[in-house]
Amino acid sequence: MGQGLKTPVFPIDMLQGQHTPFYYYDLDLLHRTLDEISRMTAGAPITVHYAVKANGNPRIMKEISSRGFGADLVSGGEVAAAIKAGFKPSEMTFSGVGKTDWEIRLGLEHEIGCFNVESVQELEIINEIAAGMGKTASIAIRVNPDIDAHTHKYITTGTADNKFGIGIEVLHDVVNLASSLPHIHLKGLHFHIGSQITEMKPYAMLCDTVNRLLDEYDREGIHFETINMGGGLGIDYDNPDECPMPDFEQFFNLFKQGLNLRNNQRLHFELGRSIVGGCGTLISRVVYVKESRNKKFVILDAGMTDLIRPALYGAHHQIQNLTSSQEEMATYDIVGPVCESSDVFASDCRLPVTRRGDMIAIRSAGAYGESMASTYNMRSLPGSVFSTPANG
Ligand SMILES: *Cc1c(COP(=O)(O)O)cnc(C)c1O
Repeated sequence: MGQGLKTPVFPIDMLQGQHTPFYYYDLDLLHRTLDEISRMTAGAPITVHYAVKANGNPRIMKEISSRGFGADLVSGGEVAAAIKAGFKPSEMTFSGVGKTDWEIRLGLEHEIGCFNVESVQELEIINEIAAGMGKTASIAIRVNPDIDAHTHKYITTGTADNKFGIGIEVLHDVVNLASSLPHIHLKGLHFHIGSQITEMKPYAMLCDTVNRLLDEYDREGIHFETINMGGGLGIDYDNPDECPMPDFEQFFNLFKQGLNLRNNQRLHFELGRSIVGGCGTLISRVVYVKESRNKKFVILDAGMTDLIRPALYGAHHQIQNLTSSQEEMATYDIVGPVCESSDVFASDCRLPVTRRGDMIAIRSAGAYGESMASTYNMRSLPGSVFSTPANG
């Protein structure tokens, strides 16, 4: 290990022996993150469900389930995987705008804790399927609070023009309908305003909206057992070593102080990125270095099939050369081998002079990295390698 940009957190010798590209997961950091969340929610009526879509790696899911977290799921496949990973069905929520009949049936068979319902038609179908199975479905209504989370347009979910949730202007009708259906148990309200939210302001606005709704429903004598604030807490992609996890204290305190919860009301969260984002790194090797008239390209053996976030959202990940011993720096475009012009991890990236065979780390890739990987171009899916945790 040398100087400069290189970081001491990677067990280079162990990584050198692995076939690239692969995801390297720092389980110590994952455990510290889970401990911090547990510390901030201890003694409060709060349940955190891990949003499995952020990373469905079986080992990662097991680490999270074994610490007593619940799971938030968006497909039948995720329900099955979460059960296998040891999450308790009673601590599962099932989200998503397009749950199909077999997925609803699977959730009912396992008696999962809550369906987060996103439309009137879905509500009626869940009631119908539950009736056919002689069961009652516990549900929360996903409310679209019309709050702009000021994040990327593809990951903003809480504005009125968005496909998610039920408009706040028709909420009363839907609450009344849900209360009247015989095979529906209306448990709560659900919100999720977007992802990679780095300001607290949208969450503070959401607290105000929820307080207003709770007052309104108090007057009508309707009590909700659960209020689900969703997920979306962002991570610091620019400073993975200085800020390996978000400020959970600030986040949870905002809700503890800002929400006027009633007695016997539990607060639910569905955190994905903030739990696993920091602990994952995509490791790859330089296949070629190529110079064109104006640019130098570093061509990696990892591509958009392994990590699509830069191509899909223009996302920025910090990139490091883990093995170069060069003092001199150069500017590169870091690209993958896939036959798409968008297969670019970074433009004008400053790295130590980089050569064929160097090992490159793409940081903060634990969330929506491996879980979004594909086999486009008939490529293999990336592997996964785990640090040995120092403690448990
Ligand atoms: C994706 C999603 C989450 C998790 O979002 P993060 O930004 O990863 O925390 C939570 N709830 C719902 C309904 C989601 O769709």
